[in-house]
Amino acid sequence: MRTLPLPPNEQSDIRTHAQQPLADTAVSRKLLRRARIAVVGLSGGGTQLATQLAAAGIGELVGIDYQQLDRENRLSTDALSWVDLALCRAKLSAIRRRIWWINPRCRFTGIAARLPEQPAIDALKNADLIMGCVNNLAARADMLEIAGRYCIPYVDIGLTIRTADSVPDPAPIVAIAGHVFIYLPGGPCFWCSGYLTTKRLEADASGLDRSYLWNRQQIESKREALVSAFNGVLASQAACDVLQLILGYSSSMATYKMYDGLLATLTPWEVSRQNGCPHCNGTVSMGDPVWS
Ligand SMILES: [Zn+2]
Repeated sequence: MRTLPLPPNEQSDIRTHAQQPLADTAVSRKLLRRARIAVVGLSGGGTQLATQLAAAGIGELVGIDYQQLDRENRLSTDALSWVDLALCRAKLSAIRRRIWWINPRCRFTGIAARLPEQPAIDALKNADLIMGCVNNLAARADMLEIAGRYCIPYVDIGLTIRTADSVPDPAPIVAIAGHVFIYLPGGPCFWCSGYLTTKRLEADASGLDRSYLWNRQQIESKREALVSAFNGVLASQAACDVLQLILGYSSSMATYKMYDGLLATLTPWEVSRQNGCPHCNGTVSMGDPVWS
C-alpha cells in the first residue's frame, strides 16, 4: 500500500497552532491552505466571513463584488476601516488590504463583476467552495445552479430585519430573521426547502425582468440589514461550517440553520430532498449548459 508523503511540520506553524486544535497537524493546515473559497457579496456578512476565513488559514479567497463602499457599510460590518469608507474605496480593494493585515499567506483575488456575468461564473466554477452573502433571491438561484452543475458545495447566509410598517417612526422591530444554508450537490437544495419558489423569485424582483443586469441593481438596493453584530453571528457560523466541510471535526452538520435575532437562537431545521424538485432533477452534475 502506498501513501502520499505527509507535508513537513514547520516549527513556526507548530508554535502558531499550539492552541489551535483544529489545525494542529500539518495535514489539516495543508487542507486549509489549499482551499480556494469564493465569497459572493462583500457587504456586512461577506466582509466578516472573508476576514474569519483568512484568520482560519484558508489559502485563497476569491471576492466577487462590483460595488464601491458607502457610509451605510460602516454600520453593517466591523471588517473595514473608516478610511476605506471615507474614501469610498471599491469593496474588493478595501477587503484585500484587510485580509493582508490579518493573514499575508492568504491570497486574495478580486472579481469586479456580478452574477450572472461571465467573470463571476468562471470564478465560481474554479472554486472549492461557494459562499453566498447576497441580498436577493435571483443571485442565490444563480449560485445554486452553478454549485449544482459543477458539484461545488455552497454555503449561503442571509439576514432580514423587519419593522412594523403600520407604526410611525421609530417603528418597532418585529423580526430579525436569518439563515445559514449548506447545499451539498446531491442533497436537499433551496428549492427543496421551499426557500426558493418561482413566486418568491418574482416577488423579490418586484416584477422586473431579471434577465437584464441593470434591473439587478434596483433589486439589490431595496433593503439592507445594517447591523454588524447580527451579520457577524451568521458569518461566524458560516465560517465554522466551512471548517467542518474541510476538516470534518464534527459527526453531524445541519443543512439549514434558522437564526432568530430576537430570541438569540440558531436552530437546525430538517430539510429533505423533494422528488419533484426542478433543481435537483434537472441541474445537478450537468456541467456547462449546451444549446442544440
Ligand atoms: Zn432540490
